[in-house]
Amino acid sequence: MTLSPILPGASLGILGSGQLGRMFAIAARQLGYRVHIYSPDTETPAGQVSDVEISAPYEDLEKVRQFARGVSVVTFEFENVPTLTSRACAEIIPVRPVGDILHITQHRLREKTFLIQHGFPVTPFRRVQTLEDLQAAALELGLPALLKTASFGYDGKGQQIIRSHDALPIAFESLKGAEAVWEAFVDFEKEISVVAARTQDGQFAAFPVFENRHANHILDVTFAPALIPIELATDAVNLAREILEALKVVGLLTVELFVTRQGRLLVNELAPRTHNSGHLSIDGCITSQFEQQVRAICGLPLGATELRRPTAMANLLGDIWIRAGGSPDWCSGLQDPIVKLHLYGKTEPRLGRKMGHLTATGESVDEAIARVITARQRLAL
Ligand code: AMP
Repeated sequence: MTLSPILPGASLGILGSGQLGRMFAIAARQLGYRVHIYSPDTETPAGQVSDVEISAPYEDLEKVRQFARGVSVVTFEFENVPTLTSRACAEIIPVRPVGDILHITQHRLREKTFLIQHGFPVTPFRRVQTLEDLQAAALELGLPALLKTASFGYDGKGQQIIRSHDALPIAFESLKGAEAVWEAFVDFEKEISVVAARTQDGQFAAFPVFENRHANHILDVTFAPALIPIELATDAVNLAREILEALKVVGLLTVELFVTRQGRLLVNELAPRTHNSGHLSIDGCITSQFEQQVRAICGLPLGATELRRPTAMANLLGDIWIRAGGSPDWCSGLQDPIVKLHLYGKTEPRLGRKMGHLTATGESVDEAIARVITARQRLAL
């Protein structure tokens, strides 16, 4: 495959049309690229800021090939794209990261099996296909535990916490025949993530480690630098580097990690793309994760990832619109001039739906967090 870079002026394709695609498209356009989007949806966050939007099912492989013919490279912003779709693109142009990586990371069992086979630390788990598997897993790994569907899970969707053996039959019923993973509950101290990029000629760059706080299984606040010892941050970046190397990623990959109370790192999940926790890089780092994704898939030199100042990001869920009884109070939210607003162009606020985010920088992480949380509170007093 060619090592020559895809230069500004070319058209880049994205499978998926949500906010990650939107922020990618904005970064790509800034660098002088054109952006084509493909997803089954209409009126999408990414489509609003792209040159071409194709709305068709992922299974319509003729349309997919037509999309691929119009661009120089294809990437993803959403990992539940069918493997056949990325294969159809790959017949025509490079897909970065390659579809095989998507195939592994869109299925929890394949992902965990890959990680274990390569010696990476993961949460103890068991595959569950029958009620007997579930009962055996509960005996072997103990309770409490999380039962997660193997496919199509994100933001806590398809997950349930199991606290007693009596709950097993009902939990099994609720899977409705879907393959699942039994995961030991990790009483972690912190959640962190490493967003990293790798190019075809082997350049590697990781963002500073992000520390993540969740509410109801959905990311709530991220800040950087993570409040962890420097050695642990170095270990986390080295782990990410080894994972990107093992998968031969060309593009971006995010590694979500638990820091256990004993100070050990466990990989929770991989995402072959930019990540919600990396949004603070837009305002906080020299290069944003979206610009880095463009650079990595196009084979340009990677950008510097250093943090300019301590930075915090707070997600804006549809809950805020509902609490505000309509539109949030933007003027109050933006009273602090250091606070930045990012909205994703979604018209329908729903509980738990990611509508946008705020970022703030500060002299310290504590100050950045306090400023971003205060700003968010002001949106719906
Ligand atoms: P996931 O979709 O697997 O990333 O899970 C979403 C969130 O649920 C994680 O970020 C954690 O906050 C929580 N979670 C997931 N798996 C576990 C686990 N094995 N132990 C404790 N908490 C978990």
